[in-house]
Amino acid sequence: MKRSVLVVEDNDINRAILSEILSDSYIVYEAENGAVALDVLRREKNRISIILLDVQMPVMDGYTFLDIVKADKELSPVPVIVMTQGNSEADELAALEHGATDFLSKPYRPKIIMHRVAGLIKLRETATMINQIQNDRMTGLYTKEYFYELVCEQLLRNPEKNYTIVCSNIENFKIYNDIFGVAKGDELLKKVADVTRSFIGNDGFCGRLSADRFLVFQNSEKEEIDREKLSASIESNSIDLLKSVPMRWGIYQITDRNLTVEQMCDRAMMAVDSIKGKYNKYFAVYDDSLRNKTLREQAITGAMESALKEEQFVVYYQPKYSLRTNRLAGAEALVRWIHPEWGFMSPGEFIPLFEQNGFIPKLDQYVREKVCEQMHRWKQNNIPLVPVSVNISRADMFHEDLVESITNLASHYDIDPRLLHLEITESAYADNLTQIDTTVKKLRELGFVIEMDDFGSGYSSLNMLSTTPMDILKLDMKFTQNEIAKPEKHSFLKNIIGMAHQVDMSVVAEGVETKEQSERLLSAGCDYAQGYYLAKPMPAADFEQLLKTADEDR
Ligand code: C2E
Ligand code: MG
Ligand code: MG
Repeated sequence: MKRSVLVVEDNDINRAILSEILSDSYIVYEAENGAVALDVLRREKNRISIILLDVQMPVMDGYTFLDIVKADKELSPVPVIVMTQGNSEADELAALEHGATDFLSKPYRPKIIMHRVAGLIKLRETATMINQIQNDRMTGLYTKEYFYELVCEQLLRNPEKNYTIVCSNIENFKIYNDIFGVAKGDELLKKVADVTRSFIGNDGFCGRLSADRFLVFQNSEKEEIDREKLSASIESNSIDLLKSVPMRWGIYQITDRNLTVEQMCDRAMMAVDSIKGKYNKYFAVYDDSLRNKTLREQAITGAMESALKEEQFVVYYQPKYSLRTNRLAGAEALVRWIHPEWGFMSPGEFIPLFEQNGFIPKLDQYVREKVCEQMHRWKQNNIPLVPVSVNISRADMFHEDLVESITNLASHYDIDPRLLHLEITESAYADNLTQIDTTVKKLRELGFVIEMDDFGSGYSSLNMLSTTPMDILKLDMKFTQNEIAKPEKHSFLKNIIGMAHQVDMSVVAEGVETKEQSERLLSAGCDYAQGYYLAKPMPAADFEQLLKTADEDR
């Protein structure tokens, strides 16, 4: 590709000679004074590789032109060769002082001109290239690769110093981009880059890891001081930017220098990801337990789909008993994961993860199907049924076909809807009341029984009891145990159970572990109990035995 040269010279003959010399190898733009040259340069700034500039010209002389060009951020990178008269040292000095890259003396020596022009163009292009490799275009911060390189050098050069890598992340940046547009998004990234830069000390520096993640490499002591400052600013709400943009910081204090820089940055990133979405938590420091947790979570996520296909998920049944008659009154279906290598896993470990990664609706549908299938088999074998409840996650509630899929299951396996209870966790209600109200209403009209799970675990509002129609209130284990631990006159237990009864709900207490608890619950008017004192969750075959003997008792 031919490069372009701008020749600025008022003397027609001189200009023609220069053009002649250059035109074999370059595209030549001509201007007869500084003013014309400025117009050409502004128009063609992305094309012009170098300028050859005469000094004495009418309208606008060479030095004035140079001053304007060098003061303009967009024009100043173009190299300028000033052509001086004879070998005047004063002229050469003046040219350099005004920002010229080099000078050439008249009369023209074609070969020298060609070499100088080619050499300077090459120099500038190399510099631009290096700049692009080193600096992120939008924010001006170092690119990821260059950042890694600098960290590596710094660590080698200072083996005794303690350093820290901080990874900052803008939460929900994608949503921000979506709502406000890419231009606003870019603006935000630039602002965040500025704030990040403003924190660095003498031997620290920062880079851009990906769209909305930034890296800082710093002396550990300085980083700790900064973190305290930043933390205070967040508390006092004094950084404007952070009022509207939720940011978090993950910190890795470099303890293991055998890691690659990339791995070090990964650790800082793991730390920042561990506080994603956590209210009021802005900083997380990496430690090895975090790494193990992340690895474990990745393994679980990687294995879940095939586990479902290979039927590694198994449904256990935990009986519920009537407190008044001690009779078996129902069961809760609780999923377990029996992995061929990892063994038995409790849902506390994987359900929260599946709720985050979107897998829970699939698993819940599977559990519901297994439960219906099982109940169908019991029915065919003339084993008397009790209601079985399945857990419905918050994410399930937003699936449009939830009602339809439950209805289809029940009719396919010929299960009376009254025998299928649906436990909806209390926190789901707090989320999106109207959506849940409609779904719950439809399900109840179809005859399914709705239980509000985990009541008392934090989101409770007694008001909900009267506004959201449900059938059964399930008291959270912690709540029940706390209330029972209080002296009777201070306990809410009786009042809450009473209120539930007033709106025609029965009450189940969860996590009943002792005889005393069971007795207190009975005296408070509670209807049913579920807990280790009565029975632990068990495989279907064991529960089948219970169903058979329970029938003999009746
Ligand atoms: P949950 O629905 O509140 O279930 C009750 C949990 O308390 C069960 O834990 C049960 O084993 C445990 N539990 C029962 N009695 C006692 C007791 O006396 N003492 C103690 N310490 N614990 C008792 P599990 O089976 O580990 O389930 C934990 C949670 O996982 C469940 O809480 C539920 O939210 C979720 N979960 C379990 N299976 C499923 C499922 O199939 N789908 C969905 N979406 N969530 C499920
Ligand atoms: Mg439950
Ligand atoms: Mg519960």
